[in-house]
This record gives sequence, C-alpha cells and structure tokens, in this order.
Amino acid sequence: MEGYLRLKWGLVLLLGLCSCGKEETYRYDADSAVYHKFSGDLAMSHVAKLVEFGSRPAGSEALEASRKYLEAELDALGWKTQRQTFEDQTPANSKVTFVNLRARFAPEVADDLWKRSYGVLIGSHYDTKLYEDFEFLGANDSGSSAGALIEIARVLAERPVVAKACELVFFDGEEAFGENITDEDGLYGSRYFAKQLRKQDASQRPEQGIILDMIGDKNLNIGVPVDSPRALYDSLTKAAKDLGHSQYFGMHNSGIIDDHVPLNEIGIPTIDIIDLDFTLWHTAGDVLGAVSPDSLRIVGSTTLLMIEKYLLGGA
Ligand SMILES: [Zn+2]
Repeated sequence: MEGYLRLKWGLVLLLGLCSCGKEETYRYDADSAVYHKFSGDLAMSHVAKLVEFGSRPAGSEALEASRKYLEAELDALGWKTQRQTFEDQTPANSKVTFVNLRARFAPEVADDLWKRSYGVLIGSHYDTKLYEDFEFLGANDSGSSAGALIEIARVLAERPVVAKACELVFFDGEEAFGENITDEDGLYGSRYFAKQLRKQDASQRPEQGIILDMIGDKNLNIGVPVDSPRALYDSLTKAAKDLGHSQYFGMHNSGIIDDHVPLNEIGIPTIDIIDLDFTLWHTAGDVLGAVSPDSLRIVGSTTLLMIEKYLLGGA
C-alpha cells in the first residue's frame, strides 16, 4: 500500500512541469529540508491572536473574526483559501452555520486549483467549546494547533514542491454543543468535509491525512489514538526519533473521537496527533499561559519532517 502511494505521487509530481520547463520531481534531501524552520515563537504569536478574539464557538462573531485572521495570514504566505460553508442541526442551538477553511499553496493564478490532486491533508479544528457560564478561551484547544498550522503554512511556502502536495484544512464545529461528542453532535466540519470528498473523483482525494489537536501543553505527552493507521504512526515515530523527540510521542491506550474519524471512515488513512493528557482540558484555565512555544515547535517540526521525509519524500 505504502509503495503504491509513493509510486502514485512520484508519477503525479513527474507530470507537473515547473516554470523553467523542467520536470518537477521530489525526493527528500536533508540540505533543502525546511522542517527545522518551524518557529515556536511565531506559532505562539498566532495562538495569542486567536485567543484575543475571545471564546470562538461555531457560529459566533469571534469565530468569523478569527477566520478572517486565518485567511489574511494564509493569503500573505501565498496560500489560496476557500470557505466550505454549510448548515447543520445541533441539539442545543438548532441550526448553526459552519465554515471549514481550506488552503492550497498557489502564489500564481490557478483556476483549477481545487481540482488538483494532493498527497497530504493537514488539519486542525479552530472552533472552541461553547460554555455559557464562563469564558472559555481555548488557547490549547484549539488555538495551539490552529496557530501551528499557520506556521506550517509559512514553512511549507519555502519548499513549494512539498507545499503543493498538501492541503491545509481548518475544521469548524469539532466541539459538541452537549457535553460529549456523539454521532450527531460534534465533528460537524470533518463529517461534512468527508461527505463532500466522497462525492468527488478518487483522484481529487488526499492519499492520507494528519490532524493536530491540543499540541501546546508544557508537559507535552502526545498519545496517538489506537484507531490511527499504524503506518502513519510509524512515520511519526521515525521522524520523532530523527529529531531526538521520541520521549514526547507515544500511543494512547484507546481510540479517541476526533476529526480523523470521518476521514478514516471514507478510506483516507488519517492520524490524530493529540495530547489528551492536559489537566486544564475544557476548563477556564485553558489560557495562553498554558501553551508552550517549545511544545509547538516540537510537534510542528516533527510533523513537517514526517511529511517531507516519510510521507512524500520516499524515505
Ligand atoms: Zn475540546
């Protein structure tokens, strides 16, 4: 399976011609790799901005403000964005309008952009859980991963051949309106996204996916849910080992319901890189001070190396 995926990507990249007229091929080489350029401080500055918007539940004005912020940042980095807007029934608030934000790297005009095939989906939710009785800022959940994804966009832009093989997706409505995620409440954005992908031609679906969620805890302890595909977990742990970060990455003792689930259900192997071992999870204590730039850098650079070297680079 893995060999097939690589072969398929090799062919896709060979078909593309770069502006100089030469064939564009990609193989990992350490000298031109960009994973190490991920800045924890820059990622942190995005987390701080998102937190400044306040609580950002689905359908809120604060979430619209943060969406505009994401769009402006991505645009400035050479990524084109597309809003995937839809309505869904929620148990508490009846109908809510949700917006997934997709981004593809294309500094040039590209009419067929959203029809182009790509290899890796990198996703994070950007809504925060709705609480009526206190202001939930969600610095770690979901600020950390959304902020890191903008920094990933900046770093990838320095390596266009890799950036063009990726799509970034900011999922709305990961959080349930009720206490826990159920079949009808929560994962609104990723469920809708998967449903749309399923209708599309197989060539327009990503080969594989990575979800980032709650990656900023000072006491970093990534526990990949057991329902993540083993091959992707192996690529992650290899990248972590290369960087001397093995101690931060392990496997959780069970499955976790998160945005990787709807993608796996439609046959897109997707890993969830999450640290559920966060004592301030879904509390008023999830504020900026709970997020560490070092943790963002460790997860951000490891994820980038995983993509550059193992998922796309043929290592
Ligand atoms: Zn949450």
